Amino acid sequence: MAKVMIIGAGGVGNVVAHKCAQASDVFTEICLASRTLSKCEAIAGDLPRQVETAQVDADDVDALSALIDQTQPDVVINVALPYQDLSIMEACLRTGVPYLDTANYEPPDEAKFEYKWQWAFHDRFREKYLMAVLGCGFDPGVTNAFCAYAQQHLFDEIHYIDIVDCNAGDHGHPFATNFNPEINIREITQRGKYWENGEWVEVEPLSVSQEIDFPEVGPRKAYLIYHEEEESLVKHIKGLKRIRFWMTFSDNYLTHLRVLQNVGMTRIDPVIFEGREIVPIKFLKALLPDPASLAPNYKGKTSIGCIFEGVKNGKPKKTMIYNVCDHAECYKEVKAQAVSYTTGVPAMVGALLMVTDQWRGAGVFNVEQLDPVPFLDLLNRYGLPWKEKPL
Ligand code: NDP
Repeated sequence: MAKVMIIGAGGVGNVVAHKCAQASDVFTEICLASRTLSKCEAIAGDLPRQVETAQVDADDVDALSALIDQTQPDVVINVALPYQDLSIMEACLRTGVPYLDTANYEPPDEAKFEYKWQWAFHDRFREKYLMAVLGCGFDPGVTNAFCAYAQQHLFDEIHYIDIVDCNAGDHGHPFATNFNPEINIREITQRGKYWENGEWVEVEPLSVSQEIDFPEVGPRKAYLIYHEEEESLVKHIKGLKRIRFWMTFSDNYLTHLRVLQNVGMTRIDPVIFEGREIVPIKFLKALLPDPASLAPNYKGKTSIGCIFEGVKNGKPKKTMIYNVCDHAECYKEVKAQAVSYTTGVPAMVGALLMVTDQWRGAGVFNVEQLDPVPFLDLLNRYGLPWKEKPL
């Protein structure tokens, strides 16, 4: 019997709310809070159960703390934007409530995501005997759990990890992003980076690619980009020699992105337009389709997983763990596309494990530091079945 507060009524928040409603044996009460109340109400109206809704600006620690005090949740799931991570963690500390999110903090005025700001909360959460779980979506999140599972159950030592992410879906728009456009474009246009032999190696944005054979999708061109789970995994996977992250983009997507960059529409610094300041990427977000709105006509699948190479019983071993998710099936179930779905299910499952004490700890944790077995079991039950394929 637990009460959950979900913050953020976007594409992912919709899935988390549906999934918490499905787990009615655990989440007996749900509160959905976000900046725009009407979005909470629209989601609430679609749920099979009665839920509370609330308006809150999660950047305002006082207002959010007051709401948490009044609502008395057992866990807060943050699926607003990465910009709100620190203020929501601060409010959870103040009110004594465990915290979970799906994306690490980045400062609004600098396209740079790092765990250092959130890891700095570790001692304060530990002193209050509170748990914070970071990055519990699909990637990061499920990919971290795949790594922990491989380390504990499949390998004596893992030497190489390639995290491979393919969205082979088609939403019918000439250009759109699958989650918040601002966060997505900031991530992709950064310099690429991977970790090898104890060092980070940087490359020009989207300058390294290879063809990868994705399960149930087939061969696709994937580009090396930097992704946040690499930062924690290099600390927690023993014997690792290299970790890289690969994501597929269509030529059409990259052409649009290049033009937008060339004309300055992806800039994150303010410019003066007709006498007032605007941030081009925020303006672009207002023009692009809302990621949640892509769901009704989305066809095709996502195929995301980890390819591991290492040693088991003195012999070389290579294997892949992955999930395939169908956009149209997600829409049928919760009116979401697969990118929101694959993020929202693990967030609910992580919170469920926290409130049922299957994930326990005082401090700030990344997913690979927690027991992957109950997490992976529940993913099977709540719509994200995973498979292992020896290579
Ligand atoms: P959306 O933009 O669809 O939704 C974000 C929601 O947060 C909006 O409803 C927005 O409100 C709300 N919000 C923004 N600022 C505030 C604030 N200050 N206070 C309260 N609410 C606020 O994003 P998505 O649902 O696509 O993504 C949600 C999160 O999931 C992001 O952090 C994203 O990075 C992460 N993610 C993680 C993935 C993973 O695999 N780990 C994959 C995909 C996404 P409003 O409607 O008023 O703007």
